[in-house]
Parts: sequence; structure tokens; C-alpha cells
Amino acid sequence: MTCLDPFHDRVFRNGGKCQKLTQFFSRGGTARGLETTPLPSRDTCLTHTDGAHARRSDPAGYDPAMTRRWLFADQLGPHFAVGHDGVLLVESRRALARRPFHRQKLHLVLSALRHRAAELGDSAVLLRTDTYTEAVRELGEPVRVYEPTSYAAERLVRRLHADGVVEDIDPTPGFSLPREEFAAWAGNRRRVRMEDFYRFQRLRLDLLVEGERPVGGRWSFDDENREPPPKGAERLDVPPPYQPREDDIDAGVREDLDRWTREGHLSPVGDDGPRVFAVTRREALAALDRFVMKRLGAFGPHEDAMLRGDWAMAHSLLSVPLNLGLLDPVEVVDRAAQAYRDGDAPLASVEGFVRQVIGWREYVWHLYWHFGPTYRRRNALAARRPLPGWFDRLETDQVDAACLQDALTGVRERGWVHHIPRLMVLGNWAAQRGYHPDALTEWFQTRFVDGYDWVMPANVVGMSQHADGGAMATKPYVSGGAYIDRMSDYCGGCRYDPKKRLGDDACPFTAGYWAYLDRNAARLEGNHRMARPLQQRHRLADLEAVVAQERRRAATPP
Ligand SMILES: Cc1cc2nc3c(=O)[nH]c(=O)nc-3n(C[C@H](O)[C@H](O)[C@H](O)COP(=O)(O)OP(=O)(O)OC[C@H]3O[C@@H](n4cnc5c(N)ncnc54)[C@H](O)[C@@H]3O)c2cc1C
Ligand code: SF4
Repeated sequence: MTCLDPFHDRVFRNGGKCQKLTQFFSRGGTARGLETTPLPSRDTCLTHTDGAHARRSDPAGYDPAMTRRWLFADQLGPHFAVGHDGVLLVESRRALARRPFHRQKLHLVLSALRHRAAELGDSAVLLRTDTYTEAVRELGEPVRVYEPTSYAAERLVRRLHADGVVEDIDPTPGFSLPREEFAAWAGNRRRVRMEDFYRFQRLRLDLLVEGERPVGGRWSFDDENREPPPKGAERLDVPPPYQPREDDIDAGVREDLDRWTREGHLSPVGDDGPRVFAVTRREALAALDRFVMKRLGAFGPHEDAMLRGDWAMAHSLLSVPLNLGLLDPVEVVDRAAQAYRDGDAPLASVEGFVRQVIGWREYVWHLYWHFGPTYRRRNALAARRPLPGWFDRLETDQVDAACLQDALTGVRERGWVHHIPRLMVLGNWAAQRGYHPDALTEWFQTRFVDGYDWVMPANVVGMSQHADGGAMATKPYVSGGAYIDRMSDYCGGCRYDPKKRLGDDACPFTAGYWAYLDRNAARLEGNHRMARPLQQRHRLADLEAVVAQERRRAATPP
């Protein structure tokens, strides 16, 4: 295949190796494919002298970068190369007001956009308009874009492309693997398993491997990770995470959000509070550095543990800067792998973290496109209960269940709790109570500061609710109170007893687990991984009473 437009090259870094990605276009301008070719060594790559990715001018004269680059609010790092003619950034009032987002999410997005505009100075135009279309029309010149991260935004840029407003749509540098390459990898596989994808990524990126073999002899160190919290500890013995300092831009954002809320243009949920997450490249690098040097070592063993007095545990808090596009995922895992090579962090923790970033995160991104736009509405377990008001509005006054109370409070106060409260407390609760998966997906997307369209379907519909009938995860992530008791310090101070399933102090998770199995028995019957728990429920003499009790308790806060 010959490329008719030689200016669609992008040089990028893959696991420390520079590669050239060429997009081939037919004469009509239709994208026909992508090809990746390795460059001989990093030394010969002209783009990485400053550690950042950048578009190269064509030596023959024409420079594709002469068109202004329209960057979305999740494309703010230097690897989203900007055109020589500058950048367009847009604050769309309608996009901000469309849904009841968490107040701190709105703050982070606006703060990140305004900081990027300030950094770029004269080369950036920041437009505040009602819609995105209005902004590009107001600009009055064609723009280039990178592939956006949602179906809705993709439809928009395609429409603008057809209208001639968007000149070109380039592959996104926001993820390490181009979409076409994932499609080629997935091919005709019956199942696109995360473990297979993760190995493919490790080998492709030359990450923690020696030839074809994983460093340390194993691809996964899961069995060394995922320990319960240290006995008797109220907090993990690790330095606290990076804390950004707010500035005048943040003050301006706060003022605007207060005013727009007062005037009724916005109806945010959750509390305002000091900014916890990085919104600039400088802050993102500082957060990465602190995590790798001070906290990564403790990440693996305590990845799944929860402590009431330690909201961050040893997690990286990098999902916000990663999802704003401030960090290149490959630089993040390179940094972690370097810490292992330098003896600054043990292999089990480093492998566990690398798996999250170039395994889970990228897998979830590609599944978004792989499963298609209707996947989000799947409801294989026919769960139809609307979200109750207290859950929806994050009102915890009437919630006694210590684990659920703390998780909802964390969402209200920060718009963030770590993976296990999301999966094994909030998601587990919603699955047991049969909340509608589509409503729950919307809830996660708007209530969490790192929530984006692409990240929700696989995590919520697939992993957490099993609403895809097992297309993603082979078994539902539901458990009784025993799991939460083992992995946290919640149950000791709770008015419920994790061992009880019947009575006033019956743990709603334990009782809810059996009621869930009973309700979904026919739908889960064909799943061999569920055969044992489904069988076990027949041994409960009080099953009927437990199911009736949970039906009665269903609508009330636990
Ligand atoms: C029900 C549910 C909802 C979730 N919603 C989101 C969301 O809105 N946005 C989001 O970025 N992640 C989401 N996740 C994944 C994961 O919980 C968060 O990425 C993580 O808790 C963010 O905190 P951290 O940066 O400290 O992550 P760490 O625990 O330090 O992990 C490192 C990085 O790995 C990536 N990662 C790990 N697992 C996943 C995953 N399953 N999907 C995507 N990225 C992953 C994230 O970028 C994260 O920053 C969700 C998971 C579940 C089960
Ligand atoms: S007893 Fe049940 S409700 Fe209470 S903290 Fe433990 S798991 Fe949660």
C-alpha cells in the first residue's frame, strides 16, 4: 500500500523504542490503514530529544502541522503534539451542564484546560461557547484533531470533517496501542482475554521481559499481592500522595463554578474541596515521581486492601492526569520498570502496577470500541431497579453499613475511591440490589473525577455488573461480607455482623449475596464458575427467609 499523503507520519515512543506510525490515505482522503515501523534507535529519533513526542516537519517543505490543532480536554499533555499554527481549546457550556457531574470533576477539567491555555500562551485560543460546533465555526479556520475518546465526540468530529471544518482526524497518542492494531490482535479470537492482551503488551513494549520470557519467570505476581491490610493498622505505613497547590487559575475556576451553580446553569453533585489531583504536566510528573519513589513498593501487597482511616492507601492517584492526557501511559510504566531495575521497588509491586496501566487501562479502552456503542445498554441479568435517591445523591446520613457509608462519603468528598471500594463495595452493592446497569454506568461516570465515557462500559457493565452475560469477565464480582471483612477494617465498627444473614444485624452484603444468587440462578446456571456457589445456596435452610428479608430491606438505606 502506498501512502498518498506522506505527511501522516507520527513518531512515538513504545517501551523506550521509537516507532513511526504512518496513516495511509487513498486519493479521496479516506483513511485506509496504519503501519508501524521501528526506528533504528532512540538516538536517531529527532522527536524525543526533549523527552516529549512531537510532530516532525516534512523536510520537503510542506508541514502538516501548519493547521491549528483542536485539543479536547482529555488531550492536554505534550505527546498530543500541537500544530505550529497553535491550538484551539474549548470550554463548552453545554458539555459541562449536560449531566450532573461531581463538582470536583468540573473543577479538574476546567482547571486543566485553563492551565494548558496559560502554558501555551499566544499559540492557544481558548474559546468559551455553548457548543463545540460553535467554537470551531467561530474560529473560522480548519483544524486537525486526534481521535476523540467517545462515540458521541467521534460522531461530532466526523460530521465536522465531512463539512470541511475538521481537516484531519489523527490516531490518538493517548494510548500505547493504536485501535487498528488492537483490532488486528483481537482478529477472530472467540474471547479477548485481558491476560492474553497484557502479555502481548509486555512483549510489544519490551517491558519487564527478557526476550520472550517475563522478568522473574512469571507474567503475574498476583499471588504475592492483594494481601489484607496489616493487622491493627489504621493507615498504611507509606508517605502520603503528592498534593498539588492551588493557584489563581483554580480560584477563578471556583468562582465561575459557584456563580454558574447560583445562577442555575449547573447542578453539580458532591462537595467542593481543595484540589487533590494533578491538572498540569508539571504536577502530573511530580505526582508520578512521588508515587514511584515513595509509594510504589507498597502498591502490590495492599492493592486490594481497604482501611477506614486511609482513603488513598498506596494507590497512585494517576487516573485523573492519565485520563486528562497529561501523562503518556508508556512513560508511566517505563518509569515504574526503571524503579525495579534501580532497586527502588520490588518486582511484584511494579508488575502489579504495570498490569493496571498497559494491561487493564488499555484493555478497557479497546473494549469500548471492540464491543460497540450498544454494549453500554446490555442488561443480561435483567436488573431494573432505579438508583435510590440516597445512593444517587451520595447522602450517607441514614447509611449504617460502615463499608458502604465510607465509600459513598469518599465519592461525595473527593469524587474518588480506589478500585476495591468501586468494585467490591459500590458495584457489589448495586449488583446485589439489581440497580439498572445503564443508570449505574451514568452514576459512575458523573460521580467520579476520573469518569469518562470510554472507561465505563467495560468496568461497570462488564466487570462490575456482569450485565454483558460474561463477554468480558468470566464470573460476576459479587461477594458477601466475609470478603469485605477479610480485606478491610470496616466490619469491626459496623452495626451489622458479616457472619449473619438473617435478623436485625444481618450483614446486607452477606444476605444480599445469597439473595442475588437466588434471583439470578437461572441466568447464571450455564456458568461453570458459578456452579459451586449456586449449589451451596441449596444447603441454606433459611434461604427463603433471607430472600424475603432482602426484598423487604431493598429500598431502604442499609
Ligand atoms: C466500577 C468501576 C468503575 C471504575 N471507573 C473508573 C473511571 O471512571 N475512570 C478510571 O480511570 N478508572 C475507573 N476504574 C478503574 C480503577 O478503579 C481506577 O482507574 C483506579 O481506582 C484509579 O485510581 P488510581 O489512579 O490510584 O489507580 P491505581 O490503583 O494506582 O492503578 C494505576 C492505574 O491503572 C489504571 N487502571 C487500573 N485498573 C483500571 C481499569 N479497570 N480501568 C481503567 N483503568 C484502570 C488507571 O489509569 C490507574 O490510574 C473503575 C473500576 C471499577 C470497578
Ligand atoms: S458487616 Fe457487612 S455492612 Fe458492615 S462493614 Fe462489614 S461487610 Fe459492610
